[in-house]
Amino acid sequence: MRYKGSFIIEYRLRALTGLRVGGSKEEFDIGGTDNPVMKVPVEIPDYYGENKPVPKGAPYIPGSSIKGKMRSLLEWVYGRVEVMYGRANGDIEKAGKPCDCGECEVCIVFGTGDAKTYERLAKEGKEQPGPPRAKFFDLYPTEKTLEKLEDTLGKGIFTEIKTENQINRITSRANPRKVERVPAGAEFEGRIIFDCFKEKDRELLDLIFNGMRKLEDNFLGGYGSRGSGRIEFKNISVIWRPADYYKGKAQEEKLGEDITLEEALSKLEEWKKKC
Ligand SMILES: [Zn+2]
Repeated sequence: MRYKGSFIIEYRLRALTGLRVGGSKEEFDIGGTDNPVMKVPVEIPDYYGENKPVPKGAPYIPGSSIKGKMRSLLEWVYGRVEVMYGRANGDIEKAGKPCDCGECEVCIVFGTGDAKTYERLAKEGKEQPGPPRAKFFDLYPTEKTLEKLEDTLGKGIFTEIKTENQINRITSRANPRKVERVPAGAEFEGRIIFDCFKEKDRELLDLIFNGMRKLEDNFLGGYGSRGSGRIEFKNISVIWRPADYYKGKAQEEKLGEDITLEEALSKLEEWKKKC
């Protein structure tokens, strides 16, 4: 195993419906809703340049939310849920956990779900998975999104409060509750770094872009079965930085700039050859 280089994948994530990536009430001081969205707890100075910060209270999407959702979807796609279920002997809690085999494509890209896996593989004389190939960074709103939200909703307000009703089957009485969401149309900037450690890692790059495609046909955050969380990926830029780049001996290579997910998928085979 020898480090070969990294794909730097930048993208925009656009909310096509209201988006609810949840925080907790204890962490954030918000009145009036039981379901706050994740918000930046401390201003991020100069994030947009020219002294423009991400203000305290602006919504953001933790990288762990994208990573966790993408992984769970890919475990279904690549048949890992079935494997875990088969091994759990009816223990549903165990059956629903992330794959911990340490050998499948999902474990290699996202990391094994159990720290003991490394020891087990060593004892069995099997190949170690190595470091998780992909890193998912937190997403912050674009400057334009923040401006637009404040223009429409008011200074320092970036979210909508949606009321949902549960209807009593007998009395027909509605039992309303309030849900906080990031309004549809909001855009966030994100970054994924994919490291290559061996030539066969190139095939694993599929999981990143296939995961994005699957996520577009699923939902991010909560309440996806009732309208929230539909998203799309756009403005995808990909750069390849070989190991020598980090020794100051090679240049980075721009592989794609501001392209769609479909275009990225069509270029994948060509990009893989870099690894
Ligand atoms: Zn696995």
